[in-house]
Amino acid sequence: MNNMSYQDAAFRPIVGIDLGTTNSAIAYIRNGKPEIIASPKGERIIPSVVLIDLKGRVVVGQDAKDSLVAMPDRTIAAVKRRMGSDDPVEIAGQALLPQEISALILKELKSYADRLFGDVEKEAVITVPAYFTDEQRRATKQAGELAGFIVERIINEPTAAALAFGLDHLNEDRYYLVYDLGGGAFDVSVVEMCSGLLEVKASTGNRMLGGEDFDWKLVDWFAERMIERHGVDPRGDIRAKALLKEEAEKTKILLSDQDSVNVMLPLVTVTGNKPIGLDIEINRGQFVGLIEDMLGETIDSIHAVIKEAGLSFSDIDEVLLVGGSTRIPRVRERIAGLFGKPPRNDVHPDEAVALGAAVQAGLKSGALSDSGLVATDVAPFSMGIAVMKDWKGMGERPGGFAAVIPKNTTIPVTRNQTFYTAFPGQTAVSIEIYQGEHEWVKHNHRLGEFTGWSKP
Ligand code: AMP
Repeated sequence: MNNMSYQDAAFRPIVGIDLGTTNSAIAYIRNGKPEIIASPKGERIIPSVVLIDLKGRVVVGQDAKDSLVAMPDRTIAAVKRRMGSDDPVEIAGQALLPQEISALILKELKSYADRLFGDVEKEAVITVPAYFTDEQRRATKQAGELAGFIVERIINEPTAAALAFGLDHLNEDRYYLVYDLGGGAFDVSVVEMCSGLLEVKASTGNRMLGGEDFDWKLVDWFAERMIERHGVDPRGDIRAKALLKEEAEKTKILLSDQDSVNVMLPLVTVTGNKPIGLDIEINRGQFVGLIEDMLGETIDSIHAVIKEAGLSFSDIDEVLLVGGSTRIPRVRERIAGLFGKPPRNDVHPDEAVALGAAVQAGLKSGALSDSGLVATDVAPFSMGIAVMKDWKGMGERPGGFAAVIPKNTTIPVTRNQTFYTAFPGQTAVSIEIYQGEHEWVKHNHRLGEFTGWSKP
């Protein structure tokens, strides 16, 4: 395809983006199928790592990842975990907001689309974990806008994965369980496909559980071995910590293919002018022992989400595994054991989310309107307001939570509900809005507040 055909038309291309904790990718619809847009070097996914080098240049991707050890104070990885926070991130002596750093990753991906489509305005569908709060979604949208995209939509990662799979299975009416274990977050959703309508029934997860945590478990294991042998904890040395983290990820990935790995690092840190290294063997069983509790949490979430969807295990027709961490054999083993059948292996764990975002983009642009595919999503948290509520039979107190839109309601949605003022003759009310599941708002997530006045 040549670039001119795009530039001639008065047409605004739309792309789908997986802005991942560990890796990111961009895709579009070509001839009715989603396709990854590769980098000029041919990479289909790039590490979500940003480096500001000694000359002040911004470098994103593999080269930035390679600098994590050499220039830890100039490199940022896993910034997605900080999205939605107002705390700036220190990089190369500058303080940037998480969305500003994410924007640099999106800008890099945008440059791949610019090569393909030319320098025209572009729309984007960007994915987020189903479990992202409203603030995290807004921060993601802002990152997209800072990168120069018109952000058409923010969609949930498991929905995107199901869309990518669903496009090829339009005529099969079935329930899918999408298990998405990536670098930074875990999401699990039950999705129903019925006559081309893809409907998310329930979603749950943990935004602080993923391959990054497995790496840190290994870092701790390495550090404990070094303490045993040398009495030195390398984690106090920022460079040593970065080096061990890098080695931990490599070891973890090797253990997906091999039964054991020899870890050999001649120089991890220096103490009293003496170099201290690490030379140790770890086997798959030992690694599994480190992550088994975390995998157990994901299994608990599977039970919860199936229950929330009002289904039982036997109703689930297919299990789709998404996210790089589902390459760990123990993950597949536990899922297969749980469902009594192996998960699908024709879903590309690293690309499914970006491809699905492109499918959503294609549904919006009309490129896929003949497919008959329609997707709906659900609210991951209950949304409601603060009200007066009885406390242990001792009378009413402020700070109770009244859910107006319950968790797992299909969105978009509008709900009306009548509430009354707390006191007779009250002419103004302050309405505080929260997301969450606790009956008291202080345990939920505050979204904002507005004041309502009675008409004179
Ligand atoms: P994602 O966020 O989906 O890109 O997933 C990235 C995570 O998957 C990172 O924590 C990677 O270390 C991890 N990962 C990638 N490949 C493998 C593998 N073969 N075995 C175990 N973990 C992997």
